Order: sequence, then structure tokens, then C-alpha cells
Amino acid sequence: MAISAGEQGDGRIMDHERQTAVSALLRIIARLSATLPADRPWLAENPAERPWQAEPPAERPWQAEPSDDRPWRMEAPVDQTLTSLTSHLAGLVEHYLREQAEQWAWCQDLVNQKAALDQHAIVSMTDLDGNITYANDLFCAISGFSREELLGANHRIIKSNHHPISFYTELWSTITDGRVWRGEVKNCRKNGEHYWVYSTIIPLKDARGHLSQFISIRTDITERKRAEEALEAANAELRRLATTDRLTGAWNRRHFEDQVTLEIERVQRYGKPLTLILFDIDHFKAINDRFGHLVGDQVLMELVRRLSPNLRALDVLARWGGEEFAVLAPHCPVDGGRQLAEKLRALVAAEPFTDVGQVTASFGVAELHPEESFDDWLKRVDDALYAAKAGGRDRVCLADWA
Ligand code: GH3
Ligand code: MG
Ligand code: MG
Repeated sequence: MAISAGEQGDGRIMDHERQTAVSALLRIIARLSATLPADRPWLAENPAERPWQAEPPAERPWQAEPSDDRPWRMEAPVDQTLTSLTSHLAGLVEHYLREQAEQWAWCQDLVNQKAALDQHAIVSMTDLDGNITYANDLFCAISGFSREELLGANHRIIKSNHHPISFYTELWSTITDGRVWRGEVKNCRKNGEHYWVYSTIIPLKDARGHLSQFISIRTDITERKRAEEALEAANAELRRLATTDRLTGAWNRRHFEDQVTLEIERVQRYGKPLTLILFDIDHFKAINDRFGHLVGDQVLMELVRRLSPNLRALDVLARWGGEEFAVLAPHCPVDGGRQLAEKLRALVAAEPFTDVGQVTASFGVAELHPEESFDDWLKRVDDALYAAKAGGRDRVCLADWA
């Protein structure tokens, strides 16, 4: 029941002082009532009801200035004697003090939690354009920037070139859509060094429910990332060692055979031609005998360095064994294979090798027949290579198809 100051339930005329006192008490009661929160959304159990996520209530009594024309939220006492009003006011003050004590306790909790968070996490806040409005000590320490340098600067100040543009586009579209973004980010210190953080970015809304700022809480994961990168590099090195020839850097026989298996499957599926070339250095034993094994090794390395850049990206050059090499040429019919082998032969023979002079090689070429096994195909190429040797070396021979 809403009663305005000055009215009397029983219609009795009060003396002036009494009426003034009642009126003042009613005003105080009205103001206190309006000041006390109707609810405490910041304590809501359900996160969806917390102020930064929930739709705002129509009015926010704990923020608004109480005014005389505000509706009372506490029932006015029926009996408006001074005793009743004073006792009502005492109750209200009691309630108000309890409320204050609780709020003080929450503030203390928040201060403690913030202090703990600041010890553990890198915290920053930005406006909607990404301009930094708050930076805690850990953010200053990890970024190498002073607080003065960070405040007002755009968050791009710590951006590294590691992530593609799409990474940041996805991040911004998530937070500007009002959703929380989580992920690993590589950032850049003032001195140019990089560091990794696991970041949670929370969009915050203002009292009217509009996005107003972003808070970012991050933990330093640089050590873990370094360990992962070292492990990845070690694995890549293991893969390289397992698939390449140590001396020349060409693919090894095992990797070559894996590629052959894959390419044969492709031929069976798509019917594209596939050609195999085997070549062997001529009189290599004589090179070793004359110049020594180490110089022989140099020749093998120089040969791979010379031929590799002259192959297509999808061709596979492998050291088949000793001074014998193989080239797998996908999408290449026998005639293309012959031309490729001719080109390689000329590249070997044309320029002298360091310390050794001219070196030649002999080549066998065969296109895979659709019904042929790898072993049969290899045998045909090997026979063609043998024919090239028998025919005088430094030449290319095509395999027969019986
Ligand atoms: P052909 O023209 O008939 O091929 O004669 P060739 O002397 O090249 O053939 P042969 O098979 O008689 O000799 C190959 C030589 O290659 C023998 C071997 O010691 C040498 N060889 C194999 N692997 C390596 C290697 O990794 N380094 C060096 N330096 N020599 C090697
Ligand atoms: Mg040889
Ligand atoms: Mg040989």
C-alpha cells in the first residue's frame, strides 16, 4: 500500500511538529527502501543471470537515485504513529546495515580474489576497439611494456605475425557477438621476442545490456609450447632420417617404395600414366679407386644437387642403393620419361664434377603397364638399364613390353 507523506489513516489532525516528524520519517523510510537492492544479480548461481550475460532488469534500484515519486517496495506501516514509524525505521536501518556488511564482505572477497588472480594470470581490459584500458603487473612484465605504454594503446601492440588473419577474424567475431573466446595465442614482447598464452576473452555488457568492453585473462604457456615445438622438430627430424638418404639427402629406398605403392593405386583409380627411371653411374668403381671413397661420396652428393632442381615437384628422386638412383614420374607416359631421362643424362655428362672431371650415367625407362606388378615393372626397367650399359653407357634405353 503506497501512502504519501502527511496523510493519516484515521484522519486525525496532528499537531505541526508531529506531522513534520511523521513526514520526515516517511521520507527516510522511502529513501532507504529504495536504496536497498531488490535482488543481487552479481551473486546469481546461474551464470546466465549474472549482469554481464543477463538482460538487464528494467530498473536497477541499487544504482538509481531514490526519489519521492518512486513506488515504495516496502509496505508502509498501517499504524503511522511515531512509535510504529520509528520501529519500522530501526528495522530498516538494521536491514541496511546487514546489507552493507554483506557487501563489504563481498568486496573483501573480490579484492582477495583479484589479488590472487593478479598473481596467477595476465589480465587486461580493452574497449570495443581493442584499446587497452587496464593492464595488471603480469601483463606489463610479460609484454615488456610499462603500464603507461600499454594504457591507451591498441591491443595490436603485442600482436605477432604468427597467426593468419582468419584467426583474428574468428576471435573478434566471437567476442563482438557477445560470446567468450578461448584459445592459444602467440604474442610479441616489446623487444621482439615471442611468448605464448592461453587466453580467455570475456565480453562485458553495460547496465543497458550493450557490449562495452572486453576482459582478457591469460596464462603463460611459453615453456609448454617450446617443449611441443622441440618435440615436433625432433619428430620431423626423425621422419626425415627415416625417409631420406643420409649422404645425398635424396629420398631413401623405403620412402620411394611407399610412394610407388601410392602411385600405382592412383594409376589403377584414375588411369594416369606412371613412369619409372633407374640410372647408374658409369665406372664408379674406377672413380673410387682413382680419387678415393670420399671423393666418390662427393660425386654422389653433387649428382643429387645437380639433378633435383630439374625435376617436377611431384617427381620422386631416390637413392636406390650404392651409385644407383631411381626417379618415379607420375602423370608421365614413357615418351615423357625418355625425355626426362635424356635431360638428366645430359645434366650429368655436360659439366665436369669437382676433382673428378666428366662423369656419365646410364638410364633405363619404363611406363607401368596396368596389369603389371611392381616387381615385373622394376625388372623391365632394370633390363633396360642393363641394355644401356651393354650398349656403351652414357645413354637411355626404353624397356620392352613383352
Ligand atoms: P658400371 O659402369 O657397370 O656401373 O660400373 P661401376 O664401377 O659403376 O659398377 P660397380 O657395381 O662395379 O661398382 C659400384 C661401386 O660403387 C662399388 C662401390 O664400392 C661403390 N659404392 C657404392 N656405394 C658407395 C658410396 O656410398 N660411396 C662411394 N664412394 N662408393 C660407393
Ligand atoms: Mg655403376
Ligand atoms: Mg651399380
